[in-house]
Amino acid sequence: MNLSDLKWTDVAAMDRNTPVVFPVAALEQHGHHLPLFTDSMLLSEVLRRAVGRVRGPVLVSPLTWLGNSEHHLDFPGTLSATPRVYLDLINGLAENFLVHGFRRIIFLNGHGGNDVPGKQALFEVRQRHRKRGDLLLLFATYWHLAPQAKDCFPGLKQHEMGHACEWETSMILRLSPQLVGSITDIKPVEFGTAFEPASRAWITQERTVPGHIGFPNLASEAKGEALFEAFAEASGRFLQRVVDWDGVSWNG
Ligand SMILES: [Zn+2]
Repeated sequence: MNLSDLKWTDVAAMDRNTPVVFPVAALEQHGHHLPLFTDSMLLSEVLRRAVGRVRGPVLVSPLTWLGNSEHHLDFPGTLSATPRVYLDLINGLAENFLVHGFRRIIFLNGHGGNDVPGKQALFEVRQRHRKRGDLLLLFATYWHLAPQAKDCFPGLKQHEMGHACEWETSMILRLSPQLVGSITDIKPVEFGTAFEPASRAWITQERTVPGHIGFPNLASEAKGEALFEAFAEASGRFLQRVVDWDGVSWNG
């Protein structure tokens, strides 16, 4: 069910255990060859395919495309909510549906920069409602749900998500090939090694001049279809666990 299609009376009549899904992504630079809306387009397609696999009702909010993309602001066109605004945005969306009486609030994320503030925001919501034992507040990034995606197509070069990379470029080629610039002459940008296990504060410009990280030159539409299916399968299984949750258990 799409929230945008319903009347308020439809929502009022719904079972309050219905999972409410907020897709959150970004509008930010994706190298010389992919559109700014890449993360939002990809998440929408993953979620569309995932919801089709779920047995039971799921209420899906329209996409929140404004993300935390401060680290990309050196590249023109990028739009970003500052991190503290983003925390309040996610807090507010969750609180809206708590006011409406719903208990299972799920954020499905399609942009790496949203991961830390998104989890922090739900941490804050939970502390405010710490006496409630019936809440399920989850934040998940779609590629983290699918570690098996690296094996979904023979010969994938990358074993993890990069940026405007083999994986993202392949999926946009599958979805909207007319929006993809020439990739044959693009030079790969290695992932590099951060100061692990520390978490280094970085800006994108420090890691890449053109804007991508990874191997977009190796992208193909067939890889994109395989990746979409792998991510949709994993996201669908995740949403099914939320639908089937018994309201009590930790492992659900
Ligand atoms: Zn992206």
